[in-house]
Amino acid sequence: MANDHNRVPLRKRQISKYSWVLAVILGLALAGYLWQGYLNSGRAVTQPASPADMVDLRDYIPGIQIELVYATENNVYKKPIYDSDQALLRRGTAEKLKKAQQTLQSQGYSLKIWDAYRPPQAQYRLWEVMPDRRYVIDPNQGFSNHSRGAAVDVTLVDLTGQELFMPTGFDNFTAQADRDYRDISQVQADNARLLEKAMVDSGFSSIFYEWWHFNDTDLGQYSVYWPPQAQIP
Ligand SMILES: [Zn+2]
Repeated sequence: MANDHNRVPLRKRQISKYSWVLAVILGLALAGYLWQGYLNSGRAVTQPASPADMVDLRDYIPGIQIELVYATENNVYKKPIYDSDQALLRRGTAEKLKKAQQTLQSQGYSLKIWDAYRPPQAQYRLWEVMPDRRYVIDPNQGFSNHSRGAAVDVTLVDLTGQELFMPTGFDNFTAQADRDYRDISQVQADNARLLEKAMVDSGFSSIFYEWWHFNDTDLGQYSVYWPPQAQIP
């Protein structure tokens, strides 16, 4: 019986020793876990929004009208060029567009987006449908500024959503679409100038042959954006 008495305290001592080791291991694991959480939360809180982020214009610019012509068959190529109905742009570019929208809204108008970010895959699709360098950039040579997320095709609507009378429709490749304004009415020219002024004052540049197309003057900051799941067709 004396042996039994000796054995019990010994077992107790062993258990308490192992408990202590276990407690230290668990404590270290918990501390590591909390430290990791602290680092992650710090990163999430302190990481600033980058101008290069892609943002959804529907959320980013209140009241903006969006009708993505290439998401439907209702375009010059008579085929959908991409299947997304999201109008995306770089945050820096969207910020400028928001400024243009505010200017135009104060004058009783709104922007209407025809095309914004165009995935590089869509450029292959365009080239497949129209392999003509006068109208489409050969994706084997390079990509449109739309694929950088830093160019936009826009027109103007009034407060009822009615499109203003502009020089031409979208993707009209005639001389009427250019900016010399000689072969269009005064109203068309005035409306195109109204749009151009709001866009240029907000940090875009216009191009001569397409009254609807505007490049972010900072587009050199952004490279072609490949979506994470992108695969070249
Ligand atoms: Zn364009």
